[in-house]
Amino acid sequence: MEDCLFCKIAAGEIPSTKVYEDDDFYAFKDIAPVAPVHVLVIPKKHIASIAALTPDDADVAGKMLYAIQKVAQVLGLDKEGYRVVYNTGEKAGQTVHHMHAHILGGKEMAWPGV
Ligand code: C5P
Repeated sequence: MEDCLFCKIAAGEIPSTKVYEDDDFYAFKDIAPVAPVHVLVIPKKHIASIAALTPDDADVAGKMLYAIQKVAQVLGLDKEGYRVVYNTGEKAGQTVHHMHAHILGGKEMAWPGV
């Protein structure tokens, strides 16, 4: 999508600190981390949010969980654990309208964190 920040990051048109990439996904460090480890995983295909998924996106949506698993392994979080957050829509605080998973880790986390 032409004016999408995360499409531009995935295409390398806007700089980011890459931690993982494959044919379908790109992962990079969040510029405003809220945990010692804070990485965003995005599909290269533009999908606005979970709320915008269609049946055609089922494959990429499923593969995204495996991409998250791989990124967590790259980050060394797979043994100690990590949190995955998909902010979806206005009340959840979604500010970038390209579906993304926040991977948060490197500390003990409270639950619920809302
Ligand atoms: O879930 P939400 O839409 O609020 O998250 C967007 C995230 O994208 C924020 O955590 C923000 O810090 C991050 N961001 C980034 N690089 C940018 C713009 C936003 O890491 N250039």
